Amino acid sequence: MQTMPQGGWVFDLKVSESVTLDPGDGRERMITLREVREPKDAVRDRIREPSVVLDIDGEEVEVKAALYNLPQSVAGMRVDCAVTRQVAEAIAIYKDLYVLSGDARIRCWPADGFLFGPKPIVYPTQQRWFASMTQLGNEKTYVDAGELVLNVPGRHVYYHYGTDIGGYDKAVPIVAAASGRVVRLGKEWAADETEDEHPRDDVVRILDDRGWRYRYSHLDMINPDLKIDDRIEAGDFIGFLGQKGSSGGWSHLHFGMKAPQPDGRLGQVNAYPFIAEAYLNENPDSLLACARPHRVAAVGETVRLDAANSFCDGGTIQRYEWTLQNGTTKVGPVVKTSYEREGMYSEMVTITDDQGRTDVDFCVVQILPDDADPARMLPSMHVTYYPTTDIRPGQHIAFKARAFIRGAFAENKAGIERWDFGDGTAAVSCSDDCFDERWHAYAKPGRYIVTIQRTAKNGVSATAQLKVIVE
Ligand SMILES: [Zn+2]
Repeated sequence: MQTMPQGGWVFDLKVSESVTLDPGDGRERMITLREVREPKDAVRDRIREPSVVLDIDGEEVEVKAALYNLPQSVAGMRVDCAVTRQVAEAIAIYKDLYVLSGDARIRCWPADGFLFGPKPIVYPTQQRWFASMTQLGNEKTYVDAGELVLNVPGRHVYYHYGTDIGGYDKAVPIVAAASGRVVRLGKEWAADETEDEHPRDDVVRILDDRGWRYRYSHLDMINPDLKIDDRIEAGDFIGFLGQKGSSGGWSHLHFGMKAPQPDGRLGQVNAYPFIAEAYLNENPDSLLACARPHRVAAVGETVRLDAANSFCDGGTIQRYEWTLQNGTTKVGPVVKTSYEREGMYSEMVTITDDQGRTDVDFCVVQILPDDADPARMLPSMHVTYYPTTDIRPGQHIAFKARAFIRGAFAENKAGIERWDFGDGTAAVSCSDDCFDERWHAYAKPGRYIVTIQRTAKNGVSATAQLKVIVE
């Protein structure tokens, strides 16, 4: 029996390769990687939802890799897959971030207890869960119109690494997820830290006592009290969320975790299970809907909407209901739909638990036009609001919407936003590539769905939604 290392046991396995592990209950399991599945989508030829087939003590199970998947319980332990080979290789064209030495990276944990260690990390963005868009590990980047770029042969496919948490720039406080020593502050480095990245003003890096590194990027402002080599405690203020550095122009925290990997080198960690655990630890009994990741398809193609990664701490989810933009509702964790026109859509799922509580989340669906016709190019849109918690009746909330159109299609930038605040109030504004900002206050407590539809000059629309909870 071994003590669990920080973040669980990690194995890089080749297909047919086995390892044995006693996850702390005195019983050894044999874990074999049977198969790696990396299907590609029809419209963009990208790997969207890779998975692995594992055999754990004779029990065969398909485990979906990274994205919004939490560890699965199998054979009296928990297991996930952090990355598969083709995705790691696509990222390695840019930089070998995962240092994967097999066909897939498998992580294991005991049946119970925290996933990260004796204690969870601290949720690094001080805002409501899924308050805005996110780009998780291995998710093809999309918020900044990354899906809409032409398929140029040889173009690097940017599968995201690390965790992007969207939010209102200059407003959301970012705190340290874990304690450690400040080894990078913008362009300044600690004497013993390798300068292995481009010098940039917006990055803070913390090194913990176990050799893990935590990276906070695109910060609008770094806490001026921080100094290189300072000791920082989990929960300490690091700076404000922003859109600086290579953010793609959308305001978010890029949270990166690196740790020594099976071959001894430092490599990227899929942090989502640790981040989810942190949020639940700070907000016990939460019911959290998840309609992510985003979907990409062609006009007329079947789109699968999946809310099975929603979670309910201490209870069970009884019902999933989808409110689709074509005016229909569908029931079930997984439903199918299709679209008659190119555009960006927001599809809402409402989940209900065994106590009758509900929560909602939105799936971003990008329906792509024929690339040959720039006149039909759609905008991508990112919306945020602040504050996201402890909102009272009469309190003014700031909302921002920003559209993205790239390259040859930039002439369609200018457009009109129609705001529906979900309480019978509407507004109309016009903007170009810049953020459009509005204030709104709600008279009564409740959950309000804010819908922002932006129509570009070419008539193509993007719709995004937010939920605002007034207490
Ligand atoms: Zn990022």
